[in-house]
Amino acid sequence: MDGLAIERQREDCRKIAADRRWQVVQEYVDQSRSATDKTKKRPAYDQMVEDFDAGRFDAIVCYDLDRLTRQPRQLEDWIDAAEDRSLLLVTANGEADLTTDSGRLFARVKAAVARSEVERKSARQSRAQVQRAEQGRAPKGVRPLGYATDGSVIEHEAAAVRELYRLFAIRDGPSIAALAAALSGVHRDDAPRSVPHLPRHSRTLVQERNLRRAQEGETLAPVPDDGPWTSSTVLGILRNPRYAGYSVYTDKKDRRDKNKRRSWYAQILRDPDGQPVRAQWTPIVDDFTWLSVQERLDDQTRVTNRTGSTARKHLGSGLYLCGICDQPITAHSRGYRCRQGGHVTRTREHIDQWVLTVIRNRLAERDVADSLVSRDEPRLTAIHAEIAGHRGRVKRAQNDYDEQIIEGHDLKRIRDRELEMIELLETERRMLSTSTELGGVLDAPDPVAAFDDADLAIKRRVIDFLCTVRLLPHPRGRRGFDPESVVIAPRE
Ligand SMILES: [Zn+2]
Repeated sequence: MDGLAIERQREDCRKIAADRRWQVVQEYVDQSRSATDKTKKRPAYDQMVEDFDAGRFDAIVCYDLDRLTRQPRQLEDWIDAAEDRSLLLVTANGEADLTTDSGRLFARVKAAVARSEVERKSARQSRAQVQRAEQGRAPKGVRPLGYATDGSVIEHEAAAVRELYRLFAIRDGPSIAALAAALSGVHRDDAPRSVPHLPRHSRTLVQERNLRRAQEGETLAPVPDDGPWTSSTVLGILRNPRYAGYSVYTDKKDRRDKNKRRSWYAQILRDPDGQPVRAQWTPIVDDFTWLSVQERLDDQTRVTNRTGSTARKHLGSGLYLCGICDQPITAHSRGYRCRQGGHVTRTREHIDQWVLTVIRNRLAERDVADSLVSRDEPRLTAIHAEIAGHRGRVKRAQNDYDEQIIEGHDLKRIRDRELEMIELLETERRMLSTSTELGGVLDAPDPVAAFDDADLAIKRRVIDFLCTVRLLPHPRGRRGFDPESVVIAPRE
């Protein structure tokens, strides 16, 4: 066993002793020595037997029964000791708590011994996975889009991930289906063009595996045809906490969890204080964007809307208000209509043209950027750098721990301190980011041009941010469009 594995076992065992308020008399470690081979000497084990006979302790905590011994004769001795001399024997994997009555004892010991080696091995492996996650290392297994197996960023894929997140973080942004179409290069009116087209990830993975197989002279697996990305794959990308740099761990139980929406949160590994564990890999999206995406995914209206897309196709639907009842109006064939009481039915085109004209005029005013609560870019840049600095310190401490320069409690102390700083900075960053919510339109060098270039969803948000639009009924007996029938009031 390597040192880390021993450390892991020790940690688990010490926790049991602490939970039961047992005083640890002695630790017995036989590193790299088989518990099966009778001919192999296990000095620590022999010492333990001697100490027990001398009455130096009355309980044993071991990581697993097979760490204690795998020789039936020795096991019988311990069972006798438990029954005759009240030895308490507890295993860290919790399957043989012999502190209960001795009747259950024998059955459990038998069961533990009979368990297949394969099962035991997989339990140790999953413990190792938890440890990897606790240290913020990249999980083993299939690599997600944007990351290599070692956790480094694959830039052209990361660019796609970043764009998917950016667009979906917008409250009325494109639907998942539209994003899947964009990623597939499939033409669709609502598919944003800014998303790069990528071959399906499953296909890329097979090709990469084949490359390795070819190098090792193995037979190649059939490469699946490229096809369109599915919405569920895109959903998986948008839900993955790894992109925000959160350390994750799923055990098999979680994967069976039917409530997928919750289980994505449950995947984020948390430290004993409930704080998410920061991973060592580079995040592809920032926390704020990731959380905004989760919020939109969790939004009940999306879940109940069975028709799929909730992306608005028109500038004013749900945004403009009825001038009579003040309720949001909806789009209806070529018009806008108050659904509440049919107070207003108007032709869409003229109204939208007029609203856009008014907004452009407002954006052309010199002070428009001042309406942002804060647009302190230098501070945002500074925050970004400071966060990177604190993360670097955590990483260095992690390395020092791996190199055995510092102890586990030093690592924890440093991490706690740095993560607290990071959290404060993140909060500040969140407070400063109204600008990004509005697609950077208001503080762009040329706000009018930025507005014209922006997606429909951003345009709607800018309108919403700057003013409220109310539609009055079309004046009787009047032909053509009357600007006075659209009341555009600046927001306070
Ligand atoms: Zn109305």
